[in-house]
Amino acid sequence: MAELPDVATFERYFDATALHREIAGTEVRDERMLDGLTAAELDRGLLGHAFAATRRHGKYLFALLDDADDGALVLHFGMTGSLRTFKRPDAMPEYARVLIDFSEGYRLAVVSQRLLGGVALTDDPDAFVAERGLGPDALADLTDEAALRRALEGHGGMLKPALTNQAIVAGIGNLYVDEMLYQARLDPRVPADELDDRALAELFRAMRRVLETAIERDADPAEFPTGWISRHREPGATCPRCGGEIERFEVAGRGTYWCPACQAGGDGGGGGGA
Ligand SMILES: [Zn+2]
Repeated sequence: MAELPDVATFERYFDATALHREIAGTEVRDERMLDGLTAAELDRGLLGHAFAATRRHGKYLFALLDDADDGALVLHFGMTGSLRTFKRPDAMPEYARVLIDFSEGYRLAVVSQRLLGGVALTDDPDAFVAERGLGPDALADLTDEAALRRALEGHGGMLKPALTNQAIVAGIGNLYVDEMLYQARLDPRVPADELDDRALAELFRAMRRVLETAIERDADPAEFPTGWISRHREPGATCPRCGGEIERFEVAGRGTYWCPACQAGGDGGGGGGA
């Protein structure tokens, strides 16, 4: 799943390849990638413009058009989406679903194997975020412990599904939530709104550390620190912290990797000790 660090990496790629070039056309190779608009509307919305800047909220990337009144292209990457630029026709990536043409044959492909991503247009990214009911961005908006506390307040359900619920916190999915909970030594099943101050502080620090480190490393799990559980996502693997056994179980229907020895504090208080 493209989570916040993946989308931040796509944003960097977009900034490096697709800003300030006049858009010469679009090609929709599979209409199922379009979210609430037709291929003609996409073309009309972009043709003759240029992208001036990008911003991200949660798992959504917005590419703002040169005239702010003209709104923004919205990209959502689903499970397998990515971006790729190319020039030679034979270099078109497999699963290129939507293409944006710039001058001199230079093209940006929205690639998606499983067609779960989405391409949309919006007049106003803030309104789009509100309409989709997205919560605060995990990195840009949750800048202190109090903000994280407010986001989780009133959610009596388990911590892991609360953190991956885009209406509560936007940007986190199944891979990074397991990493944060592991690093914060928290049981994924503790009630989201009953963390004590120490556990909340641990979670806040782990959330920022995990997201920032992943972005620095281009969201490539092979480059993550060996002490991360993301590098050991298989049942029976050895916990890099305590030497215990990594286990897999289901939390709210999602496969969850954790170290029971490190994370089953049982008191919602961070557990594990020093
Ligand atoms: Zn452990």
